[in-house]
Amino acid sequence: MFNALVMSQDDEGTASPEVKSLALSDLPEAEVTVAVEYSTVNYKDGLCLSPKGGGLVRKYPHVPGIDFAGTVEESSDDRYKPGDKVVLTGWRVGEAHWGGYAQKARVKADWLVPLPEGLSTSQAMAVGTAGFTAMLAVMALEDHGLKTGHGPVLVTGAAGGVGSVATAILANLGHEVAAVTGRPETADYLRSLGATQIVPREDLAETTKRPLESETWAGCVDAVGGAMLARVLGQMKYGASVAAVGLAGGAALPATVVPFLLRGVNLLGIDSVMQPYDNRVRAWQRIAKDLPMDKLDAMVQPATLSDLPKLGADILKGQVKGRVVVDVN
Ligand code: NDP
Repeated sequence: MFNALVMSQDDEGTASPEVKSLALSDLPEAEVTVAVEYSTVNYKDGLCLSPKGGGLVRKYPHVPGIDFAGTVEESSDDRYKPGDKVVLTGWRVGEAHWGGYAQKARVKADWLVPLPEGLSTSQAMAVGTAGFTAMLAVMALEDHGLKTGHGPVLVTGAAGGVGSVATAILANLGHEVAAVTGRPETADYLRSLGATQIVPREDLAETTKRPLESETWAGCVDAVGGAMLARVLGQMKYGASVAAVGLAGGAALPATVVPFLLRGVNLLGIDSVMQPYDNRVRAWQRIAKDLPMDKLDAMVQPATLSDLPKLGADILKGQVKGRVVVDVN
């Protein structure tokens, strides 16, 4: 038997979470059984923990948790054997498949990545989907020409999970980082991660009729989307790129094509869920090399399975700072 946070639906179709004891035979069929050590809380986890499942959860009872790290217990796939340390992010685990808010998980071997050298299972979950995606965004900006010395790189939603990790990685790589936040009280925290400039959210929240403003940013990791992304496009330097990661501020994009046509600005889409294996391994290796562990430690708040309902609601309100590490045991 093992503990799991299970979402169950009532007669009205409203789901609620409860920590329950499950048997191994309750787990779905798949090749690899993992003893989960840590999970985390991403924005998507907030949606999966909500009463309607955020449109992501199809079937109840359901075990959420889009990320986990732990040790292989049983494997019918040659790539993994008992004792191997593994990480999982994406592949709709925690949404369409049972996820990491449990002491055991059973998943396809294709979805796992060996724990990168230099990271513990707890540090891997301090990174989680949010940090992994931040790394993918930085890699995409680099692949499109971002170099140090080009000017400040903007990070939106900076005090959140994606934003915190992006800030720490970019600063460690030697970039000037301008951190956009709606929480002025996080300024010291953002500076401690390496931000050199704090941009109040209001400065970028209002839409403008001008499709182009002065050329300010050499790159951008955008976790917010919506009107803020539209505004930022018009402030990019000639030929610079924006990595579009999130929609914390909205899914609409009230923009013009003018920055693309007159300044050669690039809008790069970042998806972490279906990312191919080789690029996953590359991103995790870059995380182990380019994300300073003392900065990562400073982002973390610890939690347990029973804290998750509150944390899920908090992250949807933009009230979680940095990264949560959930000790499922
Ligand atoms: P967090 O909640 O930790 O961070 C989001 C941050 O955005 C908040 O902390 C807040 O930062 C800011 N924010 C929240 N609401 C608003 C608003 N209305 N207007 C402007 N800013 C706002 O979430 P995550 O970091 O886990 O995820 C961020 C986004 O990235 C989400 O939309 C998520 O779905 C998406 N995502 C996408 C992935 C992909 O594969 N493309 C993978 C992972 C995440 P502050 O307080 O500093 O202003």
